[in-house]
Amino acid sequence: KKRNPGQPEFVQAVQEVAMDIFDFIEDKEAYHTAQILRRIAEPDRVVSFRVCWEDDNHNVRVQRGFRIQNNNAIGPYKGGIRFHPSVTESVLKFLAFEQTFKNSLTGLPMGGGKGGANFNPKGKSDGEVMRFCQSFMTELYRHIGPDTDVPAGDIGVGGREIGYMFGQYKRITNRWEGVLTGKGIEYGGSQMRPEATGYGAVYFMENMLKHRNDAIAGKTAVISGSGNVATHAAEQITKQGGKVLTLSDSGGFIHDPDGIDQEKIDWVKHHKTHTRGRISEYADHFTGASYHEGARPWSVPCDLALPCATQNELNETEAKELVANGVMAVSEGANMPTTLEGVHVFHDAKIMYGPGKAANAGGVAVSGLEMSQNAERISWNHARLGEMLTDLMEGIHGKCVEYGDQGDGYVDYVKGANIAGFKKVADAMLAYGVV
Ligand code: NDP
Repeated sequence: KKRNPGQPEFVQAVQEVAMDIFDFIEDKEAYHTAQILRRIAEPDRVVSFRVCWEDDNHNVRVQRGFRIQNNNAIGPYKGGIRFHPSVTESVLKFLAFEQTFKNSLTGLPMGGGKGGANFNPKGKSDGEVMRFCQSFMTELYRHIGPDTDVPAGDIGVGGREIGYMFGQYKRITNRWEGVLTGKGIEYGGSQMRPEATGYGAVYFMENMLKHRNDAIAGKTAVISGSGNVATHAAEQITKQGGKVLTLSDSGGFIHDPDGIDQEKIDWVKHHKTHTRGRISEYADHFTGASYHEGARPWSVPCDLALPCATQNELNETEAKELVANGVMAVSEGANMPTTLEGVHVFHDAKIMYGPGKAANAGGVAVSGLEMSQNAERISWNHARLGEMLTDLMEGIHGKCVEYGDQGDGYVDYVKGANIAGFKKVADAMLAYGVV
């Protein structure tokens, strides 16, 4: 805390990981001597820059942009770009730190990074978003590259924004290279990337249940968010025979006791992405559904919970309510959606709990595959990437079990993910000596 004043999200993320790593390295002298954990918790580089742009009324606007390059021991920095008013250095440092472990867990050669700006794309015209993205890339381009740092999308950064940023990179450098992932399919994007995080979170859930000889079919699921991750998680739950009861956005949540089936999910996708509407309108559109303004969906009884909106969106009280209502498993599509106190509630109740750094790693894993396809100048088909994603999620689940099995049948997935993610990065750092 003293080292990082005013950075509560970053301190929270490091504390959570440190507790597990201390146990693991207790009898491993080399990691202590080399101060590995301390080194991973100090980003290689924090770049902060001014992003100046002109709005439609010709007002000059000034935003703050960042790129946090946390660790590149096992591959180029990799992690999303977030455009949201809540973006601060602390939030991005926490995300870049978590990303380092997550990317390591995928088994692919990717380091950890994150970036973004306190820019709110909501209510902005296409032209404004384009000018902002171009200005953002006009500084960012000098810090990234296909073998240096490969950013992707995150909250507020989807296909449209990636397109504007990639176009600007190409214009400035005169190079077509795989410097961003999440690109459109026409210009080097990967099949399966849009689905990967949401589907992956459900595959992780499926693996947790399978480990206990159970399955998703016939179970009810509560999902938060209504963006990329949430809608694809809902889609995969439905494909596997589960029933999705809720979706949400920053205004509130909708509860549909009949289940949010594929047709309704398609409506939400179109409504949120193309008309940039609010989830509240779902309740006007589909009979039987209700809208709960200013509330989160965790009070709705369910078997499975998938927080897929944002950080710290599920607190201790809400975790207790989920447990009291009989939740069996939680798989995090979002990054750090459950507070530390909430995580303790799940562990104490011995609920299957898949933390974001493992459960939502499918997105970055397919991004890694997008990098491979760009480097080779080829495109794999949807079915092949689907199989690769399924295998990757099974592999991640297996690593969590290897390091997180408590011996009594309970798997501490947080511990498993932290240790497995840490070990690969730490061993690479040891090999490099003190650098
Ligand atoms: P989107 O921008 O597509 O969607 C975000 C969703 O979360 C929207 O429904 C948004 O509602 C809601 N939301 C945002 N802030 C809040 C808030 N403060 N309270 C309640 N709801 C909120 O983002 P993604 O779906 O891509 O990302 C969701 C989460 O998943 C993030 O934590 C992200 O870091 C994580 N993630 C995403 C990956 C990806 O591949 N996209 C990969 C790995 C993790 P509203 O429309 O009102 O803003």
